[in-house]
Amino acid sequence: MSFLRKLSFLFISIVIPLSCLPEDQIPNKPLNQFDLFIDPSFDKDQIEAINQSALSWNERANEIIHFNIHLAPLIQQEIGPNEFIVLNQSPPPGYTGWTIFYKDNFSYKRGHVLLASYLPPMALLPVVKHEMGHIIGLPHNKGPYPSIMAFPPYHYDEITCADLINFCQIWKCQIECDPNFP
Ligand SMILES: [Zn+2]
Repeated sequence: MSFLRKLSFLFISIVIPLSCLPEDQIPNKPLNQFDLFIDPSFDKDQIEAINQSALSWNERANEIIHFNIHLAPLIQQEIGPNEFIVLNQSPPPGYTGWTIFYKDNFSYKRGHVLLASYLPPMALLPVVKHEMGHIIGLPHNKGPYPSIMAFPPYHYDEITCADLINFCQIWKCQIECDPNFP
């Protein structure tokens, strides 16, 4: 077999089968990396609040998980493993934030987050932290400790020790803090 024929054989046997797989069947991304694509129609201060929320989680969770923020529009069909679009769109009545998950394989997550566009940045901050908590697997006030900032309503602005304890049950980490003192 000539070199060129060998080469084309390789391309057919390796590259084509892989490229035919849907993206979500190629587990080439760490499970703890989350990419959020932000609707550019949020104003500058709201985008800063979303960035701050990601920073809070990245710092408090000590890089066991990591959120990356991208200022780029993405359509639903383009959402890849551990990717979420954050839309400047009203959640259901009575809610300021709402996260929807789509089914995925290999334990990845994907979905979209709706945020109430009328929220000023200071009010948006705890809402986004709360929704990011859902993205990494935290439920509402279940288990021995109250979680994601005591929903409803959000009475803490910050991620609490209780959130980190619940987080570590999911992500298998050690945390030393007192859940009675957020
Ligand atoms: Zn919630």
